[in-house]
Amino acid sequence: LSERLGGVFDRLTKQGALSEEDVRSALREVRVALLEADVSLPVARDFIKRVETKATGAAVTKSVTPGQQVVKIVHDELVAVLRGEGDPGALKIDNPPAPILMVGLQGGGKTTTTAKIAKRLKEREKKRVLMASLDTNRPAAMEQLAILGQQIGVDVLPIVKGESAVQIARRAKSQATLGGYDVYLLDTAGRLQIDEVLMAEVAEVRDVVHPRETLLVVDGLTGQVAVEVAQEFDAKVGITGVVLTRMDGDGRGGAALSMRAVTGKPIRFVGTGEKLDALETFEPERIAGRILGMGDIVALVEKAQATLEAEQAERMAKRFAKGLFNMNDLKTQLEQMLKMGGMQGLMGMLPGMGKAAKQMEAAGFDDSVLRRQIALINSMTKKERANPAILQASRKRRIAAGAGLQVSDLNQLLKMHRQMADMMKKMGKGGMLKQAIRQMM
Ligand code: GDP
Ligand code: MG
Repeated sequence: LSERLGGVFDRLTKQGALSEEDVRSALREVRVALLEADVSLPVARDFIKRVETKATGAAVTKSVTPGQQVVKIVHDELVAVLRGEGDPGALKIDNPPAPILMVGLQGGGKTTTTAKIAKRLKEREKKRVLMASLDTNRPAAMEQLAILGQQIGVDVLPIVKGESAVQIARRAKSQATLGGYDVYLLDTAGRLQIDEVLMAEVAEVRDVVHPRETLLVVDGLTGQVAVEVAQEFDAKVGITGVVLTRMDGDGRGGAALSMRAVTGKPIRFVGTGEKLDALETFEPERIAGRILGMGDIVALVEKAQATLEAEQAERMAKRFAKGLFNMNDLKTQLEQMLKMGGMQGLMGMLPGMGKAAKQMEAAGFDDSVLRRQIALINSMTKKERANPAILQASRKRRIAAGAGLQVSDLNQLLKMHRQMADMMKKMGKGGMLKQAIRQMM
């Protein structure tokens, strides 16, 4: 019986793999989607090449087509590229007063975003915030910030006519210190295009205040231009993150991918409207969905995978509860452990496994042990895997030799298998086991 069930399980896990042709034809469509989303050509080309290598040979989940599976792989890779390290919304604002420098071209949404961030820091993090406009070119810009400050109840550095940007920055710094502010945001002037004067001015301000964060604000709809702007500002001023504005429009947000790929700087926030609370912490999943424009397919594959995993978990849990935990199952579990980052990853995943895992760790149990154990199971016959009880001395010697190991290694494996089988049987009462198995998938 267990042999037969094991066969079903094998068929379920091995749905077939993506062929080169599957991958290539699906990626042709993906390439079009990326370019339509305004991802720059070299970035798109690079990205496609990486996914091609990754996807070829990958497993296809039951009830989806190879093309759909490729789209899901592309999506996951997009998310991985877009995701920076840490929490994008967590600004470095310890050591008060922490300066935040806002930079970018004119019209990108700097002033609006400055107010949005101020509002967020005030309301969510209960920070005392000061804002200052360094836009000496346009008096209206200073007024604009003052009005926004009133609207959100955040202090704005009083305007003094005739000061340079650097003078204003100095005044903001001392005011923030004397006034006991936690954070001060400097809204710099923008130009219609990148120019040397603008860069030199921003760099000078930077050297005066030593910003904890320098956020580049760019219009998310401008595609390739946004990427050049990001490169330029990063090279000349140094940025710590990017805010993409106008993501409420119908642009597909390809600039996000290009900017990540080119500058390596994290995208922190996304502006989604003119209102002052229209600022969201960057979510790579959402932008990936937009860039790809194939959200339905991604959802479909995820659902198919979840269904399959649920079916497998159910089937496995039922068998284990009956004490039908054979060597094939153990092999699957060992491989899962390796995939999840070895023993460390497993700790605490399986309820009740904590103690066993600790013992194994104490006994010097690491990934190389996992690999040896898998090798031992590989050198067993089908019959032996299904029913390890038949292993007597001669079979043991053959198996150990086949794996290039000692009989004592095999005995250790058999002991562990018995312990796990017992534990599974106990855990099988109640839904715990099923849940645990699903977690491991
Ligand atoms: P600055 O020149 O970089 O300071 O840009 P502003 O902050 O003055 O913004 C220019 C225009 O863009 C204003 O009309 C803003 O209301 C608008 N804006 C800024 N951010 C967004 C956004 O995320 N979505 C939309 N729809 N409009 C925005
Ligand atoms: Mg402005």
